[in-house]
Amino acid sequence: MIPHIGWLALFAAIPLGAQQLTGFSASGAVAERTAERAAMDRPDPARAREYSRILADGPHLAGTPAQARTRDYVIEQLKAMGFKTEVREYQIWMPHPTRIEVWANGRPLSLSEGPVAGDSTSQRYPEPLPINGYGGSGDAEGDVVYVNYGLVEDYATLDSLGVSVKGKVAIARYGRSFRGIKAREAEKHGAIALLIYSDPQDDGYVQGDVYPEGPWRPAQGIQRGSVMNGAGDPSTPGYASKAGVARIPLPQMPVPHIPVVPIGYGNAAELLSLVRGVEIPRGWQGGLPFRYHVGPGPTRARVRVETDTATAPMKPIWNTFGVVTGSEYPDELVIIGGHRDAWGPGAGDNVGGVVAILEAARAVAEQMKAGWRPKRTLLFATWDAEEWGMIGSTEYAEDDSLRLQRGGVAYFNQDGAGGGPNFGGGGSPSLRGLLRDVAKAIPHPDAPDKSIYQWWREQAKVPDGQEPAMGDPGGGSDFAGFYNHLGIPTSDWGMGGAGGGVYHSTYDSFEWVIRFADPRFVYHAAQARIGALMMMRMANADVLPYDYAEFGRTMRPHIAAIDKSATARRWVLNTAPLSDAIMALERAGASFNATRDSVLVGSPPKNVLARANAQLIQVERALTRAEGLRTRPWYRSLVYVADENNGYSTMVFPSVNEAIRAGDQTLAQRELDDLAARFARAASFVDTARTALLAK
Ligand SMILES: [Zn+2]
Repeated sequence: MIPHIGWLALFAAIPLGAQQLTGFSASGAVAERTAERAAMDRPDPARAREYSRILADGPHLAGTPAQARTRDYVIEQLKAMGFKTEVREYQIWMPHPTRIEVWANGRPLSLSEGPVAGDSTSQRYPEPLPINGYGGSGDAEGDVVYVNYGLVEDYATLDSLGVSVKGKVAIARYGRSFRGIKAREAEKHGAIALLIYSDPQDDGYVQGDVYPEGPWRPAQGIQRGSVMNGAGDPSTPGYASKAGVARIPLPQMPVPHIPVVPIGYGNAAELLSLVRGVEIPRGWQGGLPFRYHVGPGPTRARVRVETDTATAPMKPIWNTFGVVTGSEYPDELVIIGGHRDAWGPGAGDNVGGVVAILEAARAVAEQMKAGWRPKRTLLFATWDAEEWGMIGSTEYAEDDSLRLQRGGVAYFNQDGAGGGPNFGGGGSPSLRGLLRDVAKAIPHPDAPDKSIYQWWREQAKVPDGQEPAMGDPGGGSDFAGFYNHLGIPTSDWGMGGAGGGVYHSTYDSFEWVIRFADPRFVYHAAQARIGALMMMRMANADVLPYDYAEFGRTMRPHIAAIDKSATARRWVLNTAPLSDAIMALERAGASFNATRDSVLVGSPPKNVLARANAQLIQVERALTRAEGLRTRPWYRSLVYVADENNGYSTMVFPSVNEAIRAGDQTLAQRELDDLAARFARAASFVDTARTALLAK
């Protein structure tokens, strides 16, 4: 454990320099840097460890009483720090399995992960069932068919091999797509049940030593997880799940209607080793020590899932908030959030994220005690039921959509934290510069003479003159409601690297973290430092520190991709208007940045700043449309959404690219023109913001 005082010494090693802080006037920058220096010293590894130990003490699935405990603990901490707090409850249609059984050739399989030595959590608590959340109920028996990863293209391959899963039990390995897509495709092709397993090649002994000897997944380890496609309560699409609201019936919900069960590779070996029939295509062999076959059969599997759908499908969930009202722009919201539910003890996913948020909140609270005030309103949030489909955050975004659309200036997401020494980040290109700037200001826990940014560059082997790559906000976590639905600029970051072998398993425990991920809790604390600075900088910038030059620049290659798809289909699509509009945004962004930096050398009056900021808030909103995507109206962002055939990977310019995928050239052109008009409008907001700054 590094003592608290150590950070003061480490901190001094990073030269702060006198350069301008993006979006701050000269005097504002001095005050901000002083406050940030002090705030940076607040996150404390010992306290992070204590939060983690308490929050990861036992499984806490959404919809169970354990979540009332984590709710109360987080609220108690935020209150003690001096925040105003709020709990928002929603009533969610979220049936839980009550009984799950699988048989291989008539022999029942043990679906328990079981206690292991050196992991007291696994010894002290009853283990949650092996749940694929929102899977159907039923009792199905049939020949086994191995479907590789269960992707859209894997079923096309099966078709070409003359193999059908109709009336069969499909078995798919985890990876390469969101598991909800695997369930949707299995059901669509007529499977009567789906088993999803972790293959040792992707997630087990082929990667490294297995738990508890190493951090990787053991044979009995199970990856739980939701198989619903989409975000939020499936019974209330687009509106908040309050008690008494109208709900759509089950057959219309985007959830599987066949039983889906996750299993470990020990059990998968029992099933797969005896499958014969068709030879596997190239690339379908996994890491188990025998030759895989597609089947069907002769191995038979029986899958039985009972749920409380008929008796108690509705469950309460709770989001928590610590709030500080902004002194100058109380209606402008800067939000950091992460999910508080888990599939087991969840020490990594996502107690780590909650710990980082709590320590960031405490850093900010301590600065407030020392006299610092945020100009904008700060929300420190924890979301419930993310694991079932980003439910808590989505219900909140739907509940407060008007307020968020008007005043949401940034949403920062924390999902997974303290998982190792390596840094990664992502989000809207408008906020990537801010995240890099903050990463430059914070020393790396393992190399105090280096900033996290420098470490990041070295670890990613980034050539000079380039920046480390960042992820796009496509899908998979709580930014969905804020970005994909409402168009609020988002950023996320995390420390990781220890590996994913306990992901959604009962072994994602406090002891796993201390043995393999962050023994000193310094990565948790570093992540909290970043959170505190991101919040403080966004809260008090004189001009909101978005970069629309980088945004435009990041969009450019995606036009070339559209041109390429058009050529491949021998279509003539006119991408020139979109290209022009994106160039216009990039140019507008560049001249805005230059004007902002020169204007902020002086001290522009508050009304000038407020007018410019009001325009800036509109820029990314202009890249959404109220009626959403044709295929998925909830998704309003026309820049980034989750690929509907993958769930994890991002689809850029979805209105256009989905039209191309559907083979509709006329629609593709119409969508291109629509998108061009929206980029032109976004560029005009940036221009108007610039004009506003120049007003006397
Ligand atoms: Zn998570």
